[in-house]
Amino acid sequence: ATPAATMVGTTLGAQNGVLFKGGDVLERAKDVDTVVFDKTGTLTRGEMELTDVVAFDGGSPVADGGGPAADGGQLAARERFTENDVLRLAAVAESGSEHPLARAIVDGAKARGIDVTDPVDFESVPGQGVKATVDGRAVGRTAERSSRDEAEPRGEVLVGNRKLLRDDGIDPTPAEETMERLEREGKTAMLVAVRGSERSENRDASGGQPRAEGEIAGVVANADTVKGSARAAVSQLRERGTDVMMITGDNERTARAVAEQVGIAPENVRAEVLPEDKSDAVESIQDEGRKAMMVGDGVNDAPALAVAYVGTALGSGTDVAIEAADVTLMRDDPVDVVKAIRISEATLAKIR
Ligand code: ADP
Ligand code: MG
Repeated sequence: ATPAATMVGTTLGAQNGVLFKGGDVLERAKDVDTVVFDKTGTLTRGEMELTDVVAFDGGSPVADGGGPAADGGQLAARERFTENDVLRLAAVAESGSEHPLARAIVDGAKARGIDVTDPVDFESVPGQGVKATVDGRAVGRTAERSSRDEAEPRGEVLVGNRKLLRDDGIDPTPAEETMERLEREGKTAMLVAVRGSERSENRDASGGQPRAEGEIAGVVANADTVKGSARAAVSQLRERGTDVMMITGDNERTARAVAEQVGIAPENVRAEVLPEDKSDAVESIQDEGRKAMMVGDGVNDAPALAVAYVGTALGSGTDVAIEAADVTLMRDDPVDVVKAIRISEATLAKIR
């Protein structure tokens, strides 16, 4: 494009909250044939809210977190996890994490009057969850329970997806039914597992499972809401003949539920993509000869924004994402993706 055309397009973009980084991208945007949206924070608001807490007992959900085991098991009822125990464990483990899922859990726990203490130690596993070492307070011992143990023993708490537990040698399948139910509702369900809790210790004493054996304490779920204009953005792109895809680290079921809400076909959903694999996913789409626009907001999205034919970041996104992108949408509105493409088309049409 001529400098004058570039100037016109850039100005038109700026007036519409669409910032183009130079004339090159202004020319390229019109040729985009595939738009790949990140899910969380891009198609959805990214404002997670805690919606569900399910307490487990030896592999099955407990209706109210109490009551004796059906088999009259070796453990007293008071040693089971209650919903509050599960939420407290999850919140303490997550309190050091900046992840939106973590913040929703901590805020949700506080809103329910739970005292969220600091973990002894904490490690975040990108794209999977967190692992934390917690002390007895986090396990929620009552005064009676504490008095039986002088030294408050530490336990390990894992909060995250199936892979996090599996990689740590804990079988996530007992929670599968609960997980799937929540995921079908479009929620992000997370497993809460413990190791070295009072329960497991007791079990050791009775010659049961070895101490290192972790167990599922429960499941917590967060919900996010789809942006008001996400569906319109998808349908306008499809009217133009553009393929629309979604990419996310979230699980397949949750991803498909959200895709359905915005009108993205199930076969165009790439779920359970690890942060470091998002750019590979975009590259493989482009290897099919497509010209892809990646739209994202997170640190995780930056490499994918960089490899895409056009990288588009949201204005509220992280600095890393904005730096890696060619276009920034100041209004964080998915419909502005269509505007960016139209401005490119209009600008180039003028100079022909
Ligand atoms: P997204 O692509 O949606 O931003 P991430 O790649 O950050 O997601 O994470 C992928 C999945 O890993 C999440 O859906 C969740 O199951 C799990 N996960 C990541 N971080 C956390 C966390 N802090 N606590 C619990 N689960 C987490
Ligand atoms: Mg995101």
